[in-house]
Amino acid sequence: MTPVPQKAGPRGLDLGALQQAIARTFGARDRARGMDGTFRRLVEEVGEVAKSLRHRDRRALALELSDVLAWTVSVAVLGGVDLARVARRYGAGCPRCGASPCRCPQDWAPVAARGDRRAPAFFGHARAGAVEVGRPARTARRRRAAASRARATRR
Ligand SMILES: [Zn+2]
Repeated sequence: MTPVPQKAGPRGLDLGALQQAIARTFGARDRARGMDGTFRRLVEEVGEVAKSLRHRDRRALALELSDVLAWTVSVAVLGGVDLARVARRYGAGCPRCGASPCRCPQDWAPVAARGDRRAPAFFGHARAGAVEVGRPARTARRRRAAASRARATRR
């Protein structure tokens, strides 16, 4: 881990600073829960990501991915893994072929080749930007998605 605590910049924390923050904030609880229970929480959060994708809910996806990241860091802290260090494997290209973009042979068909001329945007619009987490849902589409989720959880 980085010895000097780092502040969050305008674009967010780096991995070392995040690992320090998670260790400081949840380390005692994670140790008390143990590796098995902490890993189970990570897997549960991955399930929440699946749910947000099923509902095509971009805001929920952002939240759930932040939870997956936080639980991944908790597992790393318990396992004594320095994430900032191991993430360097991916920092300079593909760890297998060394190229960026990756030039490894692929065994899957690109989305755009499955009969569509272009790959459709997953969330129905091409605007790729940061999703603000914590802001209220504004659009009617998001309200409909929230109502749909509420119906789904009532079962
Ligand atoms: Zn590759």
